[in-house]
Amino acid sequence: MLGIETSCDETAAAVVARDASGRGAILSNVVRSQLDEHAAFGGVVPELAARAHVTFLDHIVAQACREAGVTLAQIDAVAATAGPGLVGGVLVGLTTAKAIAAATEKPLIAVNHLEAHALTARLNDGVAFPYLMLLVSGGHSQFVLVRGVGDYERWGTTIDDALGEAFDKTAKLLSLGHPGGPAVEAAAAGGDPKRFRFPKPLLKEERLDFSFSGLKTAVRLQAEALAPLSGQDVADIAASFQATVADIVATRAGQALARFARELPVAAPTLVVAGGVAANHSIGAALRQVAQEAGARLVVPPPALCTDNGAMVAWAGAERLALGVTDDLAAVARPRWPLDGPEMKVNSHAA
Ligand code: ATP
Ligand code: MG
Ligand code: FE
Repeated sequence: MLGIETSCDETAAAVVARDASGRGAILSNVVRSQLDEHAAFGGVVPELAARAHVTFLDHIVAQACREAGVTLAQIDAVAATAGPGLVGGVLVGLTTAKAIAAATEKPLIAVNHLEAHALTARLNDGVAFPYLMLLVSGGHSQFVLVRGVGDYERWGTTIDDALGEAFDKTAKLLSLGHPGGPAVEAAAAGGDPKRFRFPKPLLKEERLDFSFSGLKTAVRLQAEALAPLSGQDVADIAASFQATVADIVATRAGQALARFARELPVAAPTLVVAGGVAANHSIGAALRQVAQEAGARLVVPPPALCTDNGAMVAWAGAERLALGVTDDLAAVARPRWPLDGPEMKVNSHAA
């Protein structure tokens, strides 16, 4: 399966194999991040992102095929992210995939980007259904019960900012650059996580939702109160912010695992963490502890498979193809596309 990802600021393509027993293997996984294109703007500029995808995608696809040792004629099918995401970029990837599918007369699979994040743990770790997923990325923060391919139940979500977005905005406030997650984590390494007490919005309420925008405001007020910030101030704010969000995420994960244990007849629950923020070591450590306390298995894919990549899209396509699910060339790009929408269901497609 060839997989194409262009929903945000990564131009990515990969070739992935899936054997009859459902085991996956990554034959190539090429990612070109557009950090330079967007650096001056402190965030992703949609129009620039789409143009860069146009410029680079053909080369990235060719490289993915070359590294995998296959020609386009040898692939079984082509999958591309069809949403959710920046629609200009999605159109570039989806249209390219359609052209390849039409030219090679191979099936097309229009992949939901969130499903790709959700199923990655099966590619690498062979995780069996059902499992609980915590998706924490640049655009999403949600708990999802993953029952099967196309079968998702959202248990909670952010009511404002996504966690990755909160990292990115905190980094911007502290002049740490973009993308913010790794920069905040690096700065936090030399800081005191107990120096500042930041709020934990919603946490007292019995629901599996998140709220991060108040936290961002608290960070801004603290930074303004201390200005001009010393290097140590920046490190301490970063560390205190990171400790606060790690605590929020871990508390909610414990609640979500408790619900999973109540509702699903599975001996040992599995918590899968997906999305770019899963690369954060503090959050990982906090989640490991919670999972251990709940007797759950914690699965965190390697960072290169947590952030956007083509392999996850190819894998989601391969899982769908194995169930006989394909899309026709009229498949549309969707800026918004919730995982629990009716068109995700495997039986909503003509096999
Ligand atoms: P979505 O998948 O919701 O459409 P996206 O594809 O932009 O959003 P990802 O590529 O999965 O998101 O993740 C990018 C986000 O992960 C960014 O917000 C980035 O700051 C964050 N991130 C990456 N590494 C780390 C880290 N070490 N610590 C915290 N956050 C991180
Ligand atoms: Mg990105
Ligand atoms: Fe993503």
